[in-house]
Amino acid sequence: MKTKYLAALLATTIAVPAHADVLVDNVSGITMDEEGKVKRFEALVIDDDGRIAQLIERGEDRPRTDYREDGEGRVMLPGMIDAHAHVMGVGFGALTLDLSDTNSLDEALERIRTFAAENEARPWILGRGWNQEKWGLGRFPTAAELDSAVADRPVYLERVDGHAGWANTLAMQAAGITAASKAPSGGKIELLADKKTPSGVFIDLAMDLVNKAVPAPRAVERDLALAEAQKVFHRYGITAVADMGTTIEDWQSFRRAGDAGSLNLRIMSYAFGPEQMVLIGGSGPSLWLYDDKLRLNGVKLYLDGALGSRGAWLKRPYADDPGNYGLPLQTPAQLRNNLVRAAQGGFQPAVHAIGTAANAELLNAIDEIAGSFDGDRRWRVEHAQIVDPADLPKLADNGIIASMQPLHQTSDRLMAEARLGMDRLDGAYAWNTILDLGGTLAFGSDAPVEPADAFAGYAVAITRMDANGEPFGGWLPSERVNREQALAGFTSKAAYAGFAEGRFGRLLPGERADFILVDNDPLLATPEEIRATKVFETWVNGRKVYEAD
Ligand SMILES: [Zn+2]
Repeated sequence: MKTKYLAALLATTIAVPAHADVLVDNVSGITMDEEGKVKRFEALVIDDDGRIAQLIERGEDRPRTDYREDGEGRVMLPGMIDAHAHVMGVGFGALTLDLSDTNSLDEALERIRTFAAENEARPWILGRGWNQEKWGLGRFPTAAELDSAVADRPVYLERVDGHAGWANTLAMQAAGITAASKAPSGGKIELLADKKTPSGVFIDLAMDLVNKAVPAPRAVERDLALAEAQKVFHRYGITAVADMGTTIEDWQSFRRAGDAGSLNLRIMSYAFGPEQMVLIGGSGPSLWLYDDKLRLNGVKLYLDGALGSRGAWLKRPYADDPGNYGLPLQTPAQLRNNLVRAAQGGFQPAVHAIGTAANAELLNAIDEIAGSFDGDRRWRVEHAQIVDPADLPKLADNGIIASMQPLHQTSDRLMAEARLGMDRLDGAYAWNTILDLGGTLAFGSDAPVEPADAFAGYAVAITRMDANGEPFGGWLPSERVNREQALAGFTSKAAYAGFAEGRFGRLLPGERADFILVDNDPLLATPEEIRATKVFETWVNGRKVYEAD
């Protein structure tokens, strides 16, 4: 490492080749430029601070540097940015038992037994992904069956859809479940054949009965989860994320990693509601910490639920549940108070809105409030899944950012058709219309709800087809975006959505050297090739943080 003096010199005299540190040469480089156009290059130079000092285009001379890395002709892209993810959810997901690929109850029990033996120190065994239908069981599994795999510790496993939980006897004891236990409304306790004894399976809101007995993770476990999450994102070529719902405990884990020098994922944080916002940020957003790796940007708010559980708030009733409109999670006054409170402190609000009524209410509220706050606010609408076409133009007003997740479109397609009916799908996942109207799209995954697979998301964004090529020609194909727009959505626009433009998201002089080396050029490859993109290396702040085997 060079001296502080040299770093200062570099900062004032950008792109002085003689002082540059690392030349990454022989790449097929692609980035969005300042004008939002695609720029191609053959090499870049990284300075002492992990910033890009120089971009070298075809035929230009290479500067003298201390080190040279050979990119072996691979495609270099800016690190992907996931504009909506749950960092600790991804981390804990990676730490818990995954049963989603088991094909029988016996196979699952064997997997559970092995996992428990490999994780002796864990007081509870937690996991997810079981599916009795896939097992061909024809009934729910029981606590006794789970006891046959693990009887020395509580075990609690969520069903693949997250709508049921399977507990063993010790877990039920810890939760105080007896034959006298009553399910809360919206939930069900499955019973054995005697019609009295809880069987071990808890449906929907009855899951809370067990969940509240699961001990909160300790700090060391949170730190482990963060480390796992970083690995997951790096493997997918993701170098920055917007964390949608940071708690103070999550923030402390991010800070511990930053202090220890082990934070290698840029986190744009949105606090989990107004209370956590104040706990973490006090009177305003934090500074950019640790070389632009962490900042509390704003607050995540929820205005409605999800389409699957009919919690999304609609203007007209569900087509498959007449009379049900879903539910707002905040009153109009609460929503406006929360938005104003955030904006007054300079926090950026990011509001979950899925259904037509939720989106209309949020867009109207922003329109009423925005005039009272000067400056660049970048109000974020998270998901914006089903928007009344009459309201879509408002997504382009007031500097709003539509933060959307391409993979949700393929996962939700058939459900959206059932919930809304075929005649109410205009304005569903309406990416291209939003761009045409002048709006701003930032793309993400909502991991761990979907895999943090940015290239799968990219392929969906340009095809509206799933991994099996369904439906042929794409679902509402006029809402496809072009390849450049998809790249921007996962890089420069995702950075802009988090006030990070100029810091990262593009490979331009002065920005952080966050990049990936991959096998496909997403501006030229087929959608299938893009989906299967191999990430060879992931670099953050001028350092390699991941290399494929
Ligand atoms: Zn989310």
